[in-house]
Amino acid sequence: MLLPDYHTHTVRCGHASGVPSEYVAAAKAQHLRGIGIADHLPLLPEPDPEISMDVADLPAYVDEVQALQSDFPGYVLLGIEADYRPATLPEVTALLREYPFDYVIGSVHHLGAWGFDDPRQMDGYDQRDIDDVWTEYFELVGDAAESGLFTILGHLDLVKKFGYRATRLLDKELDRLVQRVGRSGVLVEINTAGLHRPVKEAYPTLEILRRLFAAGVGITFGSDAHKPAEVGRDFAHAAALAAEAGYRQFAYLEAMPGTVRARVRYENFEAAVQ
Ligand SMILES: [Zn+2]
Ligand SMILES: [Zn+2]
Repeated sequence: MLLPDYHTHTVRCGHASGVPSEYVAAAKAQHLRGIGIADHLPLLPEPDPEISMDVADLPAYVDEVQALQSDFPGYVLLGIEADYRPATLPEVTALLREYPFDYVIGSVHHLGAWGFDDPRQMDGYDQRDIDDVWTEYFELVGDAAESGLFTILGHLDLVKKFGYRATRLLDKELDRLVQRVGRSGVLVEINTAGLHRPVKEAYPTLEILRRLFAAGVGITFGSDAHKPAEVGRDFAHAAALAAEAGYRQFAYLEAMPGTVRARVRYENFEAAVQ
């Protein structure tokens, strides 16, 4: 599989195992097209050692991935996954400016103070109307797209993780989200981790991918690996999903020396999956 994997985490986040070099070795062993390390940006203003590294660990993280970039030129990217939360937007924006990340994955993991994808906080679903949860989530993802902070939107329909579905077709809400994403020019990943969560589906659904394709939104692939053995996991499935939605190309990120943020180039993924 010659696709790149842009969503991987490392031991630094406190809930993953493996160091960056092991992730690169795993990608090489599978002949992936490239690999991006995208560990969790420190969660501000509430540090949680089980969710992300500390701000003080960021320089060492960046150094370690940059050393791998020197060892494997053109193969390794320095990424980061940042939470989109209105309350922490100024701090996150400032932190992202401090380091030369090749790309930033923007993810919504919280509605207000509630970490809705955190298994420790699942009781939050009992206290809310599920359609409101979905609607609020889509609005925040749209805000994340329009913030201009992110290269890629992470797991676009993460709110389905534990299998809580909206009770009605959120057609208008979804249309609005896809339009906002399309206008913003941000990429969207096909994230295969959902296949291993209670929902047992990749993020996002085929239905959403079809709409994204129609809106001209580019796609990347991400395993959301939390151990080296998960790198590139289920990419054949992801590629088939993309093809079914109409996609023939994926976004390849090319690190540009001297420039912050990688350049986006489109490649044909039919060639990549042979
Ligand atoms: Zn994680
Ligand atoms: Zn995430």
